[in-house]
Amino acid sequence: MKDHYVCPICGKPGERSPRYPKYVCLDCATRAADKEGRGLAFGNVSISGGYAAWYQDNKEPYDSHICYVDGRTCWADEAHMGGIVVSIYDGPINEK
Ligand SMILES: [Zn+2]
Repeated sequence: MKDHYVCPICGKPGERSPRYPKYVCLDCATRAADKEGRGLAFGNVSISGGYAAWYQDNKEPYDSHICYVDGRTCWADEAHMGGIVVSIYDGPINEK
């Protein structure tokens, strides 16, 4: 089935996104952490978008798009339609 999608982290079925074929589901995105395992949160800078990331514990800004979910390297970014999307990161983002 063409629209088949499962979360690359937990295997949960969901809606396929042609733009973000390797995005991780929202449940997994909430477990995103830095290299040391500190929890991260993501959001838009303003209503018009923009990417922002910060630590869950002290709200310190996190100055990177790279995050880790269950040991897998992921890339968080502003989603095309607003919000934040976290995808599996498997190499330089501009290589595709
Ligand atoms: Zn998942």
